Amino acid sequence: MKEIVEKERKLSVSASCDVLVAGGGIAGIAAAMAAARGGKKVILLEREFALGGMATLGLVTIYLPLCDGEGNQVIYGIAEELLRISIEHGAEANYPTAWFENGSREARIAKRYMTQFNPHLFAMRIEQILAELGVKILYGTLAAQTVVEDGRITHVVVENKSGRSAIEVESVIDCTGDGDICHLAGAPTELHAKGNALAGWYYYQSKGEVSLKMFGLADVVPDKENAPKLSEKADKGLNYTAEKVKSIGSFRFSGVDGEELSDSVVAVHKQMYDDIMSRHKDDESYLPVTMSTIPLVRMSRRLAGAYTLDDSEERVRFDDSIGMTGDWRKRGPVYEIPFRSLYCKEIKNLLAAGRDISTTDRMWDITRVIPPCAVTGEAAGTAAALGSDFTALDVEKLQQKLRENGVRLHTDEICRE
Ligand SMILES: Cc1cc2nc3c(=O)[nH]c(=O)nc-3n(C[C@H](O)[C@H](O)[C@H](O)COP(=O)(O)OP(=O)(O)OC[C@H]3O[C@@H](n4cnc5c(N)ncnc54)[C@H](O)[C@@H]3O)c2cc1C
Repeated sequence: MKEIVEKERKLSVSASCDVLVAGGGIAGIAAAMAAARGGKKVILLEREFALGGMATLGLVTIYLPLCDGEGNQVIYGIAEELLRISIEHGAEANYPTAWFENGSREARIAKRYMTQFNPHLFAMRIEQILAELGVKILYGTLAAQTVVEDGRITHVVVENKSGRSAIEVESVIDCTGDGDICHLAGAPTELHAKGNALAGWYYYQSKGEVSLKMFGLADVVPDKENAPKLSEKADKGLNYTAEKVKSIGSFRFSGVDGEELSDSVVAVHKQMYDDIMSRHKDDESYLPVTMSTIPLVRMSRRLAGAYTLDDSEERVRFDDSIGMTGDWRKRGPVYEIPFRSLYCKEIKNLLAAGRDISTTDRMWDITRVIPPCAVTGEAAGTAAALGSDFTALDVEKLQQKLRENGVRLHTDEICRE
């Protein structure tokens, strides 16, 4: 490969902040909210021009459960606040009546604490809330490099319409979903071994009704013979066959290679177009209303932190737990998330949240979804309001703050009514 040497040049320091949150997805939103409420000056960088990341621009509008599937709520705090905000005007589907209106245990088991929201209203509402909290949002701004001195990030180099400049930081929370800051700062990272299958969700209208199409729902690409039986509801709502899943899932991508990422988006668009056209042929009213405008990446690069959480650690008590999550895929399992999975020893003022936290590949499939991303975002923002050397943070103080904000930390705090 040919190489050139980029000339050294001076960069202006365009801003400074206590807490720089890189990435405005669910994790970044929760982190910015928590850090701002903790009294910090927060800058939130987002390369797109709206908040919510995968959940809004990716049209992943299903807010997965805050409960364990057995009628018990396990996720509280900002994750629950965001769920409520996402449907404050009403839910697109699955309004959690039993949970909002003190329904019976049976009703809470029958309908998990989850919902479906309008991505556009959610993105706009969150923007207003962050602005009210004094968070400075920088849209169209890519975190492109870091300056590290003595194991601390001193500046994050950003690129936007103004060009390239540096932001002086006290601490940084990596919420890019791809561990970009961790990688740029030289923190240890891991890639998901299997990468990602193609997916491209879109909303379509047909006969006057607007519906969500989860095109490329299944990450595990099934053989035709072994294809899982789709639930009746999924069949009705999705209209896809196992064969279709197989055909769009045959290509896998890592999520951190620029050219490959573009190729995967082009391939998804082609598949989506063909899918829409084949349906449009039989139903003239079948047309897309909106489609995901960021790549749908489930698992890419994450921090290899001070602790790596595994899915075998169901109901394991961690003294440094910062919250819990259930398993969106099945009923029963509950996991505590240790603070150590949010930081590494090498870069002391860096935290990871959302898809970036330190887990095994198997655990990643549990912690990557919206509710746990908000849990780790809130914990990271709260921690950043308390200090900037996360390897030496007073964890009890962090836990006390989280508790004051309604978060439950350990499985023995689950309320069984
Ligand atoms: C196909 C698919 C289906 C899914 N289905 C569901 C579901 O039904 N329910 C559910 O709860 N979850 C689902 N998920 C998972 C969930 O949507 C996401 O994993 C979760 O929303 C991730 O939140 P996040 O904040 O960690 O990351 P993201 O949402 O990825 O946010 C990262 C943000 O950082 C920005 N960014 C990235 N790099 C940079 C940079 N260098 N500088 C500045 N900004 C940057 C991005 O633009 C983005 O806005 C699904 C995911 C996929 C891919």
